[in-house]
Amino acid sequence: MTLDEIKQKCDVCRACPLGQTKTNTVFGTGNERAALMFVGEAPGQQEDETGVPFVGAAGKLLDKYLLAVGIPRNDVYICNILKCRPPHNRDPKPEEEDACIQYLREQVRAVSPKVIVCLGRIAAMRLISPEFKITRDHGKWYERGAFSMCAVYHPSALLRDESKKEDMLIDMMEIKKRYDEVVK
Ligand code: SF4
Repeated sequence: MTLDEIKQKCDVCRACPLGQTKTNTVFGTGNERAALMFVGEAPGQQEDETGVPFVGAAGKLLDKYLLAVGIPRNDVYICNILKCRPPHNRDPKPEEEDACIQYLREQVRAVSPKVIVCLGRIAAMRLISPEFKITRDHGKWYERGAFSMCAVYHPSALLRDESKKEDMLIDMMEIKKRYDEVVK
């Protein structure tokens, strides 16, 4: 299935109640054959309004880290587990993730990345391990079949707590190294 075909399914999806309250489906953006894919948890308000993931303050901060470590923003693909915004930016419910995860699996198949980076605790707990603790495990690498995976702090967490920014930079530098290895 192509990304366009998967997006069309998301546009009309009502598999969870968020499909009825969204303004736009927030499917994904970036290089459709990216070696490096970032996955967050769910769209926020600006993403819901524009239909594009990571366009708000958190997204701009992520862009700065990509720039700082020399990963071209247009080389990566960015999406979320949920394609529709939870009201008031609350955390996704497990049943919403269960309903939506099939689309992420299809996206990963279509993009076929070598490296998947989870943005934040919720994505890491879903994609790497339910036991994942972001303060303990950020920046660690996990080999999962065809993918190398790791998780970093969600950029919105960095906006709330500046003390995490140095760890984020170190993790992003390691991601750049791994990225350079897989695109050689
Ligand atoms: S969040 Fe996912 S499962 Fe729920 S309606 Fe939107 S596309 Fe469907």
